[in-house]
Amino acid sequence: MKYICDDCGSVLDEDDLRTERSYVSDYMGGCYEDYSVCHCGGSVSEASACDICGEYFHDDDLYSGVCEDCLKDEMTVDNAIKAGADAKLEVEINGFLASCFTPEQIEELLIKALEEKIDSSDEAANAAIDKAEEWLSEDKSWFADWLKSRADEGNV
Ligand SMILES: [Zn+2]
Ligand SMILES: [Zn+2]
Repeated sequence: MKYICDDCGSVLDEDDLRTERSYVSDYMGGCYEDYSVCHCGGSVSEASACDICGEYFHDDDLYSGVCEDCLKDEMTVDNAIKAGADAKLEVEINGFLASCFTPEQIEELLIKALEEKIDSSDEAANAAIDKAEEWLSEDKSWFADWLKSRADEGNV
């Protein structure tokens, strides 16, 4: 088990912790509680390693075992399209057009349309990048699991 200091951010092993004693009362020779602190005196919380970069973080700052920085790095339009394939949505479209194309062909056409949009201007490209980040941020734990399952398949 590793710990992280709430004050200075140091990552500590159990052996690095300092034990402090706080006296609760002087009754019967003293009642006290032992608690662990960082060498700076700050309180410590349990920490876990990010499954991708291996750095230690507060458990609350990990999404399904992955840190925010690693998730942000992977929030690309490309990954949003790939991850989106595992998060299908139903849409209603023109019945005749739906009869002309298979769902796969419709997706290919939409990817082409998105690529054209990205190529058309920096503004449109940035909007697509923002949209990808926004969409992938909706459920960071799900995206973390998706990234890890992709890594397990060796497709990194
Ligand atoms: Zn500290
Ligand atoms: Zn990380």
